[in-house]
Amino acid sequence: MVETPYLGMEHQGAIAYGNYYMRGYLGSMIPKNMDWDYIIVHETGHEYFGNSVSCKDIAEYWIHESFTTYMEALFVECAYNYDEAVNYLVMQRSLIRNAEPMVGPLNVNFEGWTSSDHYYKGAWMLHTLRHAIHDDETWFDLLRSFYNRYALSNITTQDFILFVNQCTKKDFTPILEQYLYYHTVPVLEYSIQAQGKKNTKLKYRWVTDVSNFNMPILVGKKGNYQLITPTNEWNQMVLDNVTINNFKVATELFYVNAVLVEN
Ligand SMILES: [Zn+2]
Repeated sequence: MVETPYLGMEHQGAIAYGNYYMRGYLGSMIPKNMDWDYIIVHETGHEYFGNSVSCKDIAEYWIHESFTTYMEALFVECAYNYDEAVNYLVMQRSLIRNAEPMVGPLNVNFEGWTSSDHYYKGAWMLHTLRHAIHDDETWFDLLRSFYNRYALSNITTQDFILFVNQCTKKDFTPILEQYLYYHTVPVLEYSIQAQGKKNTKLKYRWVTDVSNFNMPILVGKKGNYQLITPTNEWNQMVLDNVTINNFKVATELFYVNAVLVEN
């Protein structure tokens, strides 16, 4: 890194650093209870995603910024803890605009974004993917092996999707394509009904632009969530030891809209 009058930029020769060694981004942009230098963490992240694993087409710039933004949260998880990393992502969630797909039009040197969704929504897509995979050993193996496989090369969005499918031995194509190629957020429509004093009957389905969106999601009582796998068709089940008052969709772990509908 080289000190510059400019705030920060991930040049491959030497990263420009101009944050004056302040916390966060010139003193803000990170939660009040944290003390770390945003520019050092973010631009260092680009030594992996951006400067080594690079996109083939600038319209797929999410490959640089989503992974690097997600690595900020992983830094918080390592330096603080998992709950603080979730809090950090929840803070960034409010910056998502859903104004446009994260992947722009290819082959036209597209740089016409009107939002930073290819940073924050992309980080949330990776956060969501981690919890949908629901196995941290597989998740961190995927992250490391994806980097190692494509270090010092130029890749496409489809390279990432194929890699996720190979690594997990599951088809995450509709899930990732919904997040990357559409601006709309997956909607979990659900209804809940008390079953006796202790249990809850849950009906649920995904409403998405893509078909066959079958993303697993955590629901139930916070601290004791269970994984369900809704599809685009209505399904139902009884959740034991979950009341309608303590039922929750884990929207702190998944970037979705949960919408309560009539029974
Ligand atoms: Zn960046």
